Amino acid sequence: MDVYQKLQERLDSNAAGAPAAQAFSKILRLLFSPEEAEVANYLTWRLQPISKLAEKTGMDSDGLTAMLETMADRGVIFAKVKPGAENRYALLPTIPGLFEVPFMRPERNPHLKELSRLWEEYHGEGMSNSHAGSPTPQMRVVAVNETIPMVSEIIPFEIVSDMISRARSISITNCACRVSVNACDKPLETCFSFDDMADFLVERDRARFIDKDEAVKVLKMSEEAGLVHAINNSEDKLGVICNCCGCCCTLLRGLTEIKNPNAIATSAYVVEYSPDECISCYLCVERCPVKAIEENEDLVAIHKNDCIGCGLCVSTCPTESLILQRRETPPQVSPTGKELVMTVLEEKGKLEAFMTVNQE
Ligand code: SF4
Ligand code: SF4
Ligand code: SF4
Repeated sequence: MDVYQKLQERLDSNAAGAPAAQAFSKILRLLFSPEEAEVANYLTWRLQPISKLAEKTGMDSDGLTAMLETMADRGVIFAKVKPGAENRYALLPTIPGLFEVPFMRPERNPHLKELSRLWEEYHGEGMSNSHAGSPTPQMRVVAVNETIPMVSEIIPFEIVSDMISRARSISITNCACRVSVNACDKPLETCFSFDDMADFLVERDRARFIDKDEAVKVLKMSEEAGLVHAINNSEDKLGVICNCCGCCCTLLRGLTEIKNPNAIATSAYVVEYSPDECISCYLCVERCPVKAIEENEDLVAIHKNDCIGCGLCVSTCPTESLILQRRETPPQVSPTGKELVMTVLEEKGKLEAFMTVNQE
């Protein structure tokens, strides 16, 4: 088996998935040299110290460190480097990971156009359905803070600013989907990472640290620009916050174009419309990222089944004709990120493959 096929199979053992496809084979060849792909085939989903990797690969520690460092700098593997401790390295999944990181600093990517074309092809060839291939979605929508009804059942993990206040470190960088697809002129610097991933991206000059006040300002600016807040589908802590547009975002297009209902979980809310005060300005039609509202005989028609509960129409409606209401049965959210990964792996039938890679 060639090193790239072996690497594709290894990457496919992650919850994100990496199904075999011509486009992905070409992507791997652009991201990894044959020697790098061979070394990546020794990495696991757990961080491993350089001494262990040198033993596994039979390479000398200095040469191996130099190779892994250039790979981490290019954002094709994950690394943790701490003064006084051994460097540690791990695989990066496809999403979020191999897709996003190379697009975060587009000016430094010599293969930008080719990678954009190939990822677009790959999403259609099976990557989107593979990512959304479990009944439990890996990401969920959170409603704009101000549009959440002030009732007792509000739960902190449904409020994105509350989730932010629990983070140790926060980074912000360019949205890979908008850099790659380039179908709109919405703001680019709206993609948040947290804690270890934030540290990694800043160390590798792919992102910059921001404090909690700036994070809240970026969320507000994103909402004003009509971007949907999307976060990892677990309660305990934030891994990422995406601020997504309907035209470029892989997740939202998974819903609207590929019609996969598991592409992203809705928020706990759904829109409700009272036509009495509606002035037919159609701002809501423009704002809805999933076309759940359309013009209808001087008023608007709402397709509640398509509503993801983002609140973007509610925050713009000048007459308060739209509100968010709590769903009768809000989607389940995993208590922790670890449980989410285990559930998705089990649902996709990949748990054994994932464990096997990690035991090597
Ligand atoms: S998922 Fe959304 S925010 Fe994240 S990179 Fe894609 S469009 Fe950007
Ligand atoms: S109707 Fe559209 S804009 Fe309004 S909350 Fe639902 S998905 Fe969001
Ligand atoms: S934004 Fe409000 S007032 Fe304007 S069309 Fe929509 S519901 Fe009616």
